[in-house]
Amino acid sequence: MTTAIVIDQRFDLHTWHGHVEHAGRLQAIQRALQTSGLLPSLMQLPIRAATEAELLAVHSSHMLHRVRQLASYGGGQIDSDTYVTADSWDVGLLAAGATIAMVEAIAEGRCHNGFALVRPPGHHATDVRSMGFCLFNNIAIAARVLLDRYDIRRLAIVDFDVHHGNGTQDIFYRDGRVLFCSTHASPLYPGTGAVYETGDPHMANGTTLNVPLPYGTGDEGYDRVFRQVIGPAIHQFQPEILLVSAGFDAHWSDPIGPMALSVHGFARLVQHLLTWAQTLCNGRIGFVLEGGYNIAALTASVIATLRLMLGMDPGPDPLGKMNAPEPNIDRIITTLHTQHPLLIQAGYQGVA
Ligand SMILES: [Zn+2]
Repeated sequence: MTTAIVIDQRFDLHTWHGHVEHAGRLQAIQRALQTSGLLPSLMQLPIRAATEAELLAVHSSHMLHRVRQLASYGGGQIDSDTYVTADSWDVGLLAAGATIAMVEAIAEGRCHNGFALVRPPGHHATDVRSMGFCLFNNIAIAARVLLDRYDIRRLAIVDFDVHHGNGTQDIFYRDGRVLFCSTHASPLYPGTGAVYETGDPHMANGTTLNVPLPYGTGDEGYDRVFRQVIGPAIHQFQPEILLVSAGFDAHWSDPIGPMALSVHGFARLVQHLLTWAQTLCNGRIGFVLEGGYNIAALTASVIATLRLMLGMDPGPDPLGKMNAPEPNIDRIITTLHTQHPLLIQAGYQGVA
């Protein structure tokens, strides 16, 4: 079992004083990697900048022009949440290119699984708009490379960031080759991700699966959603490779997320994903970093994920659990079982 990572100090050049999405996030992960003892077991892949053609497979030329122009002026705000520095165009190309490098290594069998430790995040960036701290949609750009250049006919993207992955959903909403599954807090930024958004009814019916969850959902609720909703959908869809938008801002300590997952709760989700990849995809799974803004929770969750990818136990949970009762999620699960096209096809009747 070979596990690859991509990480690069040049991502630090995209940072903005006082913003929660800052260079310290990856710097802390880099330090945690060094003290974890895992580095000798991990294959670090060389990275390259994505080409403009690779970005244009997903994004409009107008959107790319806007980021490049703002960077050439020395930087500024794309919107109230999303900044560009003088270096952000180059860093954005590197984050997308690093994610491509990881999925190529998986597709070519140079590693079994991988984790792209990249910034800025990507899952809010739509085909036409940078938003929500995201300049380019790293995971969507990498997924398009897999579909266009490798013999991949079906892939699934699971997004467990606390925010809905609206950009990834938009980009693949009419593409029946990509199953997009998102768990997210509702109501929360960006406000999309309702259960009735299930893919274009003519071209991609059932290949979008949204699980909006009430505030305070924690380890038990998320585990249940993965076992009873995401898992059956993925088994029905039969992807050849699994990609994961791994945001860790559903941790209970996150300053901008209202959920209650612990590090060990994330580890349970990751273990499900690894097991499904083993069963359906010959072990092929790639994680891509999205959010996660409590540095201690972020680093512990990334290390736990890498340990599981290497076949180890998840290690300690230094922050522990939040001891609060979880909200009831029966209704959302029943709604999905009875109304989502893929789950109806799966014949999943159990409402345990
Ligand atoms: Zn997020």
